[in-house]
Amino acid sequence: MGSVIDSSTSLLARHTHDIVRFAMGAPSDDLMPVELLDRFAANPVPGKYTYGSTEGEPDFVDQILKLQAEHGHASAPDRVTVTTGGMQGLDLACKLFVDPGDLVIVEGPTYTNGNATALSYGAQLLEAPLDENGLVVEVLPELVARGGRTPKAIYTIPNFQNPSGVTLSLARREQLLELAAQWGAMIIDDDPYGLLRFENSPIPSLNEIDPGNPRIFSVRTLSKILAPGLRVGWVDADPSLHPLLINAKQAMDTCTSVPAQRTVTDFLAGGHLQPHLDRVLSLYCERKNAMRVALDRHFGDAVRATDPDGGFFLWVAFADAQVDTAALFEPALAEGVAYIPGPAFSTNGNFHDALRLCFATSTPERIDEGVARLKAAVDKSGAQR
Ligand code: PMP
Repeated sequence: MGSVIDSSTSLLARHTHDIVRFAMGAPSDDLMPVELLDRFAANPVPGKYTYGSTEGEPDFVDQILKLQAEHGHASAPDRVTVTTGGMQGLDLACKLFVDPGDLVIVEGPTYTNGNATALSYGAQLLEAPLDENGLVVEVLPELVARGGRTPKAIYTIPNFQNPSGVTLSLARREQLLELAAQWGAMIIDDDPYGLLRFENSPIPSLNEIDPGNPRIFSVRTLSKILAPGLRVGWVDADPSLHPLLINAKQAMDTCTSVPAQRTVTDFLAGGHLQPHLDRVLSLYCERKNAMRVALDRHFGDAVRATDPDGGFFLWVAFADAQVDTAALFEPALAEGVAYIPGPAFSTNGNFHDALRLCFATSTPERIDEGVARLKAAVDKSGAQR
């Protein structure tokens, strides 16, 4: 697991020529509020460099509650546990709910490290299909019936999914809540990109649809919204889980970095989030559109691409199922463009004829150049199965 991304990253590091980088899903320096974060990081705060409380700094938890309330989810301090990024939230979810051999439904394709975390706790993954409205919830009963047992958890990325960019529709969110209740399954609701909507109206979150539902375990992070190096996120879950989460986190890292929490608290309390989002979202929107135009111009009907309303990623499937995007990776790098091959997002080796592109970090001109290079790589390499 993760090896396709790891080997892609090390291959990328070996190349010194100009490469258009569509691979990584992290905001570039110019998309992070670096100056403000630096300024707040320098604020003197007594006790800033000692251990903090495992559940999180109270002022930071207040800011999280305010942020969630502004986006329709009235939460409470005993529902929130601060985490060291979204990854720790996923790890905590699996630690609490996944025992060896348990069935976990995942989206196919899905976030590589989500799969890796569930597998590290011994989960058996059931990969369920996605379409332009997210996880195809309607087929879950049949898939589960065929497998002969019910899932312990369902892992979903409802907004601007990684890697596909698609968003789960309202009807499917409601249906997912019903199925989880029927099966007694937890829903691991991983939403790092939800605040990065640049088109159309928000869809109510699972928590907004069914407030207080104890089956919803929400994993959040500021990595994509502010800066991944801060390693600051949180989980929002039923209060009965709070002591378990605190115990589990205590044994992982005692507490999330106090200086990082202080810095983000001052950033949020100063009202800087919305202006930051306003700036980056208009760039992301322009870049998404530029990528769709470039794909159309250079590939036409040879590919089908998703059309995300937010987030970082767009998923490209080749019309010719013989194209092998893992084999194409090195020729594409030589041509000067990097992406993540589709099989990185499946434990079944699916999606050999698809790839993920991050549109967020390149200018429209570079996007056009990168897509042109991708086309040249396809034409030259004959990277077929
Ligand atoms: N979930 C998803 C869907 C992600 O895309 C990411 C980051 N790539 C994470 C979780 C992990 O977030 P963090 O970097 O904050 O650990």
